[in-house]
Amino acid sequence: MRAFDLLQPSTVDEAVSLLQQHGEEARLLGGGAMLSILLRQRVVAPGYLISVTGIPGLDNIEATGEKLLLGSTATLRGIERSTAVKEQAPVLAEALHLVGNVRVRNVATIGGHLAHADIHLDLPPVLTALEATVIVRSLAGERRIPIDDWFVGYYETSLASDEMIVAVEIERQPTSLHGAYLKYCSLSPNDWPTVGVAAFLSADGGTAADVRIVAGSVAERPLRVADAEALLQDRPLGQEAITEVGRMYADAADPLPDVRGSADYKRKVTAVFVRRAIMAAATQAGLSIGE
Ligand SMILES: Cc1cc2nc3c(=O)[nH]c(=O)nc-3n(C[C@H](O)[C@H](O)[C@H](O)COP(=O)(O)OP(=O)(O)OC[C@H]3O[C@@H](n4cnc5c(N)ncnc54)[C@H](O)[C@@H]3O)c2cc1C
Repeated sequence: MRAFDLLQPSTVDEAVSLLQQHGEEARLLGGGAMLSILLRQRVVAPGYLISVTGIPGLDNIEATGEKLLLGSTATLRGIERSTAVKEQAPVLAEALHLVGNVRVRNVATIGGHLAHADIHLDLPPVLTALEATVIVRSLAGERRIPIDDWFVGYYETSLASDEMIVAVEIERQPTSLHGAYLKYCSLSPNDWPTVGVAAFLSADGGTAADVRIVAGSVAERPLRVADAEALLQDRPLGQEAITEVGRMYADAADPLPDVRGSADYKRKVTAVFVRRAIMAAATQAGLSIGE
């Protein structure tokens, strides 16, 4: 591993000035769970690491009225255990419980998770379905980035090199909206997902409304297929339509073949898990499923 200087700012202003000062030579350090591996493998070799976990208050989890604000250094475990998160974004708390193992969740931060942007992450599908906003800061001020614009490609986000994530904002999940996150691992059960699907909907009389389906790990960005969601919108749910929606997601997926399975296999499990996630959301919403 290349030798580096560890910088430990005590405010966000100080952190972003260090970023500005050291430019491409610097790298932000969150929980370090992922970065320590990348440093050892020499995938990255910065001269300066700017550790942000010592900044007081940056790990706060606040429920303000209709919004949840997750500070960027809040650990995944802290968010998973937060009463406010369990009440206002229950599916997020459930998904967090499935991330890696408790040792990883104890150190990994939500800021590091979003900045890492591996396609095999559990939270992007849920945060996309919940229409979260990523809040970033630089010396120029604050920028609010809708999650739809956050993930740009493999390990790529819209974060500029002089910016850091300071928080993630999520609207309170409406009480009428019900959902589920299903994770499928073809290797060990606490592996990164082969496919992860978040599905949300609400029941409007006997019909499905506000349908949101997002598949993760099977494309370079969290995958949402508007035409497929529209097939279920404002009508009673039927097995045939749900199966067709699964097929449409499988067709739209562009998975990478790897140790977790071939591209074809991943498309097949995408169809299955999209279908199962919709059925789980329908059960939560109390909607029955016809033919
Ligand atoms: C063994 C292992 C198993 C895992 N399994 C899973 C899994 O099953 N599912 C899953 O979803 N995830 C999994 N993860 C990933 C984990 O959820 C986190 O995404 C990862 O650890 C990054 O968080 P971190 O705080 O450790 O970030 P770090 O390792 O500190 O940093 C990661 C990247 O984020 C940048 N960064 C850190 N903080 C900020 C900030 N505030 N602003 C801007 N950039 C920042 C760093 O510069 C770096 O590029 C696993 C990780 C490990 C090590």
